[in-house]
This record gives sequence, C-alpha cells and structure tokens, in this order.
Amino acid sequence: MNSTKLRVPYITSWSAEATTTAPHLIQLPNKRGIAYPDETIGDRDSRGILWARTPLAQGQGTPEFGQVHSARQRRAMRKLLCQVCANPADHNPDGILWVLPDHRTDWPNWPNGMGITEPPICTPCLNLSTRACPALRHGHAIIRAAHAPLAGVQGGLYTPTPIGPRPQSPDPQILHYDSPRLLWLLAFHLVRELTETTVLNP
Ligand SMILES: [Zn+2]
Repeated sequence: MNSTKLRVPYITSWSAEATTTAPHLIQLPNKRGIAYPDETIGDRDSRGILWARTPLAQGQGTPEFGQVHSARQRRAMRKLLCQVCANPADHNPDGILWVLPDHRTDWPNWPNGMGITEPPICTPCLNLSTRACPALRHGHAIIRAAHAPLAGVQGGLYTPTPIGPRPQSPDPQILHYDSPRLLWLLAFHLVRELTETTVLNP
C-alpha cells in the first residue's frame, strides 16, 4: 500500500456484476428489430435504443480490470465525469481532458474524428495514473478535445432468424446514431466523437 496505489476506476466492472447468461431477446414483427420479452420503459434511451441489462454491485467481489460496466460508462460518458473517480472531468478553454491508447501514427490529425468509448478524466486521476504507471506515459496520449459530441453507441449486433435473433458477431460494433442497423443492436456503451483535438504529451 502506498500513496500512488491505483484505485479501482469507477467504470470498472466487478465480479458480482458479471452477467453469465446471454440476454433473452425477441425479434419484433416486420423487421422492427430486437426487444426484451418483458421490456419496460427503462430498457431504452430517449432515442429508442435498447440497452443491455447489467446488475449494479459496485465494490462487490473482485474488480475485473478491462471490463467496463455498461451503466457506469454510460453515466460517465453522458455527464462527462472522470472515468476513475466519477467527479467532473477536467475542462479548460481548450476543451475536455482525455487519456487514450496512443495511436497517433494512425492518421495525420489523430484522434480527430475518432469515435471513443473511454469517458474523460480529471487532472488528479491523470497525474496519479501516470505516476503509478510509467508505461502510461509512453503507451497513452493525453488529449484535449474542444468538442466531443455524443455520436452513437457500441454494442452487440443481432440478425433475425426463424428461431429468434442471433448474435451477428462476437465482436462489439460501433454504430452512429443515424444507422438503420440500430434496431438490431443491444447497446453496451455510449460513444463520443472527438473533434478539435490537441495532443498534450509529445
Ligand atoms: Zn478523477
């Protein structure tokens, strides 16, 4: 135990929150997409997108690092809260603060135009993370984004079959809010699109 010990991030899923069975979904008539058989109004957002049901048991069991909890990611992303401590993320006149895996060689003005599922971060949590984890300095990019509008959702896509909807692929997909395929997506995470970005670490 020391002062730079990493805390369990707010968005990290805990073992007590793991869902062991596949979601029970039905397909609506006339190719209108997927639904829960016992759906309630809270299962969809204001755009009509169907969301995965996830248990809430933060702090119970063991943290599953690398597994992001759907409801907490969604809250942090929507309200621009720090992904680690859930306080408001840092922002200044240049924009909101983010730390991302460093892919700045991918395209010339990376990460402009990128859809991301990582919520932003606050300065104390960024400093703590980079101090406790030297690899973060080299493997990650620290970004300011002047605009980062909500742009879509990430989730599992389904295909209609005669015996009900089936997962199209084991890999999560990111869909923009204007995609007609949203009818067939069970959303896990909110996506923001980074624009007008500045990379802060050389
Ligand atoms: Zn924080």
